Amino acid sequence: MAPPRLVACPQCGKKTPWNPANPYRPFCSERCKLIDLGQWAKEEYRIPEQQRPLPDEAESNDD
Ligand SMILES: [Zn+2]
Repeated sequence: MAPPRLVACPQCGKKTPWNPANPYRPFCSERCKLIDLGQWAKEEYRIPEQQRPLPDEAESNDD
């Protein structure tokens, strides 16, 4: 029987077997999968945040 194919977890880099026994593949664990999904969600939220107008920087020019 061939050994299981190992892939590096995208979150922590740990080698984890890619097979139906690992429901979190390509991640090594549920925790790593949730962390990665959380980062995705954060990136989604940051897009509208960056569209806010910048504060008026001329205010600091009080010489
Ligand atoms: Zn991991």
